[in-house]
Amino acid sequence: KRIITTDLIEQEGEIEKTLRPKFLSEYIGQESVKERMNIFIQAAKQRNETLDHVLLYGPPGLGKTTLAGIIANELKVDIRITSGPAIEKPGDLAAILTNLNEGDVLFIDEIHRLNRSVEEILYPAMEDYALDIIVGKGPGARSIRLDLPKFTLIGATTRAGLLTSPLRDRFGVICRLQIYTNEELREIITRSAEIFNTEVDIKAAMELSKRSRGTPRIANRLLRRIRDYAQIKNNGNIDFDTTINALKLLEVDPIGLDEVDRKMLLSIIYKFDGGPVGLDTLAASIDEEKNTIEDVYEPYLLQLGFIQRTPRGRVVTKKAYGHLNIEQEEENLK
Ligand code: ADP
Repeated sequence: KRIITTDLIEQEGEIEKTLRPKFLSEYIGQESVKERMNIFIQAAKQRNETLDHVLLYGPPGLGKTTLAGIIANELKVDIRITSGPAIEKPGDLAAILTNLNEGDVLFIDEIHRLNRSVEEILYPAMEDYALDIIVGKGPGARSIRLDLPKFTLIGATTRAGLLTSPLRDRFGVICRLQIYTNEELREIITRSAEIFNTEVDIKAAMELSKRSRGTPRIANRLLRRIRDYAQIKNNGNIDFDTTINALKLLEVDPIGLDEVDRKMLLSIIYKFDGGPVGLDTLAASIDEEKNTIEDVYEPYLLQLGFIQRTPRGRVVTKKAYGHLNIEQEEENLK
C-alpha cells in the first residue's frame, strides 16, 4: 500500500482515535457543515428532542467518523459505531436497535453497503422508531410492531448517489464534506503535532499540507512518518529540510500525486487527446473501478484544477500539462 492511500493502514485506527477532536470547536474546516450542525444540535437540545437523522458524505479520510463522534459528544449521548458490511442479517440490526438508549447516536459507516433486507428494517426504525417483526410461518404468520427508543442515525458514505432513494429520503440533514485547503491541513498538522508532543515549524507544516491530497488522514500519517525520521536524523526536530528529505525517502510527490493519478492524466492526454472522455471508457483504459476513480482520485484532481468534468466527460487542463511538463498541442489547448 502506498503511503498516500486514503484507506486505513496498519494499526492506524487506534492512533486515529487519539487524534480525533471531541468538540465542534476543535474540528478544523468544513465551516458550513459545522455551522449547520451546531444549530441543529442546539435546537434539539433546547427542545429536549432527538436530533434528526444525519447523512454525511464525502471521500474517505475527511472526518465523517470524527464528526459523528463530535455530534454524539455535543448532544451528551452515547454513540454506537458499526458499518454496512458488518450488519449481515435483519436480526443483527434489530439487536443493535433494541440495545440503544433513548437519544443515542447510531453511526453506520459505508451505509450504502447495507443489504436490502437489512435496509428495509431501517425504514420504520428511522421514521417511527419501530421495529416490524414477523412471527410464525405460513398462513399463521403475523407482523408485530415493537417500539424502539428514539435515536439519531448518522450514516456515512462516499457519495450520496450510492444510496437508494427511500433510504436517502429518510435523512433530515444531508451534509457533504469537502476536500480541505492547504491552510486547514496545516492547522490539523499543527494540532496533531501538539498531541504528539513534537514541534513542527510552520514551513514544514505547510510543505506537508501540500502533499496530503486535501485529506486529514493522509496529513496525520505523513506527520507520523516524518516524526520518526526527524527523531533518528535531526534530534526530533521537524524543520523544513528534514521534512523535504523525509518526503523524498517516502517517495511522496510534491503535490501528493499518486501513480494512479498520473496514469489517469497521461491516459486522457495520450489516448484521448486530452479529453473529453467518459468515465466508463477512462476506467476501462486504466483498469480501475469507476467508483474508485470518482471517490478517491477525482476529488483531489478536481480540487487541484487538473481535470474538469464536462457534460461530455473528463478533460485535462492546461495546469496539469504544466505540472507533468508536457507540451500541449496548439489545436487542443483547453
Ligand atoms: P472518515 O470517517 O471520513 O474516513 P475520519 O473521521 O476517520 O475520516 O478521519 C480521519 C482522521 O483525520 C482522524 O484521525 C481525525 O483525527 C482526522 N480529522 C478528520 N477531520 C478532521 C478535522 N476537521 N479536524 C481535525 N482532524 C480531523
